[in-house]
Amino acid sequence: MVIVVSLIPIPYQIIALTQERNSLFEYPPDRLAAIIREIGFTCTSCARCCTREFNGHVFLLDHDVSVVKTIDPGALEPAPYPEFCDQNGIFYVSGYALRAKGDVPGSCYFLESGRCRIYDNRFSICRVYPYMLHREPDERGRIDWRQLSGLNQHGEYHHDISIEESNTIAIKVKEYENAILTQEISFLEFIRDYFAKHNLKHVQKVYDDRMRRFLKGETITVMVYCAGQLEKNQVKKSMQQPL
Ligand code: SF4
Repeated sequence: MVIVVSLIPIPYQIIALTQERNSLFEYPPDRLAAIIREIGFTCTSCARCCTREFNGHVFLLDHDVSVVKTIDPGALEPAPYPEFCDQNGIFYVSGYALRAKGDVPGSCYFLESGRCRIYDNRFSICRVYPYMLHREPDERGRIDWRQLSGLNQHGEYHHDISIEESNTIAIKVKEYENAILTQEISFLEFIRDYFAKHNLKHVQKVYDDRMRRFLKGETITVMVYCAGQLEKNQVKKSMQQPL
């Protein structure tokens, strides 16, 4: 697995994400609501979106992590693809994800016989999915907005969605995307200051060496940024884990 770590200096990453968040603020919610109505997506409870076969991992916002900790902390694992590794071989990543089971599709820890066993307490991403509001390159490399994940790969389309419902979804999607960007900006600001204070620096060679050893079965230390602080995790490669 090739893990691409951004070589862009942290202050520029912060500026880029802040600009991204400004673009998100400017995106009119009624435009997103109109697209939601046009697509007319309806969930058919296929539960494919709750598997790693379909979605890489279920990323959690900080307040979701507090909910998981009250339900079952064993469901948590550091989010995959750590952003940094210092000269001492310690990795740093923004946030937690949900652990997967060891079955073939990589079902979410909370998926039981095709149903979410904590549905009423499901997490932010589970509530807004498959809607999104990201800017990504299209097939020609042109940056544009994406509003739906997995179009035509799950669910049904062209159902009637009321203006009121589409407006509610649009606002929730914007709130979610804002929370993700804000969490990532906060992580970068924290790491910038933490590295400066402790005389640490990201070393790509150390990152690559440790990651190779990790993939061969060695345990690594991953500091997870959550709720404004770092939490230490010892991580060993497992079949379920995409790290
Ligand atoms: S928590 Fe529930 S809804 Fe969310 S991914 Fe897991 S099984 Fe699916």
